[in-house]
Amino acid sequence: MKYYSTNKKTPEVGLQEAVVKGLAPDNGLFMPEKIKQLPQSFYDNIGNMSFQEIAYVVADAFFGEDIEPEILKDIVNDTLSFDTPLVHVNDNIYSLELFHGPTLAFKDVGGRFMARLLGYFIRKQGQKDVKVLVATSGDTGSAVANGFLGVEGIHVYVLYPKGKVSNIQECQFTTLGQNITAIEVDGTFDDCQALVKAAFLDEKLNNQLNLTSANSINVARFLPQAFYYFNAYAQLVRQEKADNIVFSVPSGNFGNITAGLIAKRMGLPVKRFIAANNSNDIFYEYLQTGKYNPRPSVQTIANAMDVGNPSNFARILDLYNNSVDEIRKDISAEWYNDDKIKQIVKNTFEDTGYLLDPHGACGYQALKDGLSADETGIFLETAHPAKFLETVESIIGHSVDIPDKLKEFMKGRKQSISMNNSFAEFKDFLLN
Ligand SMILES: *Cc1c(COP(=O)(O)O)cnc(C)c1O
Repeated sequence: MKYYSTNKKTPEVGLQEAVVKGLAPDNGLFMPEKIKQLPQSFYDNIGNMSFQEIAYVVADAFFGEDIEPEILKDIVNDTLSFDTPLVHVNDNIYSLELFHGPTLAFKDVGGRFMARLLGYFIRKQGQKDVKVLVATSGDTGSAVANGFLGVEGIHVYVLYPKGKVSNIQECQFTTLGQNITAIEVDGTFDDCQALVKAAFLDEKLNNQLNLTSANSINVARFLPQAFYYFNAYAQLVRQEKADNIVFSVPSGNFGNITAGLIAKRMGLPVKRFIAANNSNDIFYEYLQTGKYNPRPSVQTIANAMDVGNPSNFARILDLYNNSVDEIRKDISAEWYNDDKIKQIVKNTFEDTGYLLDPHGACGYQALKDGLSADETGIFLETAHPAKFLETVESIIGHSVDIPDKLKEFMKGRKQSISMNNSFAEFKDFLLN
């Protein structure tokens, strides 16, 4: 399969190059040249299939031309060592719990898949000393770092905004050691992302180093996120509730929702999508006005969505031929400020017993606000509430159980390198 750049100013590349490069040389994002419609027989039988079986069919549609079936099967099975259960919350609203992986956020799926795929390519090429750069607003860093931990020939650099990730999130990528280095940037997530992008566009760095990116811009992270949309559908089929499905996706960089849009293109029967945002309402504004005005992100309690210039917006434009009217047919948007998010978490917990995290809360409320009686709403519960412990505990007024997996991370010693947000310093650091 070939991958083209959304900027269309560079030639198409193969899977390996798309994965290793991350970002296209013209600063665009890679897109698969074909989005295959899956056969009706697959949809007819999906209710009888396991998550791993479903995911393999989806993975095969993208990666089957480039990776041997047995290897791809192993990568899929190994990635999905956990389930994504659909849990009924109330009325016609369900939570797709994506937090049962090792770092308790949905990014484990893409992070683990990408780590395994890149490991395979590196072994195949006999490459050494590959540097993976990843900017994180909180959860990417841990998913990627844990996915790559101990993988030979790869060193991961996690850039995160100082003081803007939760204590537990920080523990998950600063305590690992080995081939993982955490870099604490005096700036915002957008600054971290800009540093990573600048590194890929820097000729000297690219000539001297083997750089690759693990942000949601990478196709090996982004496409596997389609797996669980299909798995959610299969679970609704089993409950005979699979008509008029609406997915509400807490969105920051818009990688997760874009994977859902791709699933729809593959024939997944989804009626529509909602992009649920915090106060960083750039996409909401775009749908209202037809104008895309990126701006610096503001800090919120749903910090993994504090993004002022969502990378994957370019992919959405590409999928819909730059037509805001076409986009509006499939996607609407909602946004909630911190006070509202707190109120949602508190009320939902009191009314239903279901504890939302601040990101999932936006997704849930967007369904509460906009779902009609004949629709079935699924919001993506993108992280476990205990990842935002202080915030969630102060909202509901009592303590939250911390899963054992999370407790383990909290025992480690934090280690990170401090940096300002200038590219010169970062470049120097990488070169030395
Ligand atoms: C990363 C993240 C998001 C945003 O996902 P995007 O793919 O960047 O839109 C939402 N919630 C949580 C918990 C996250 O970690």
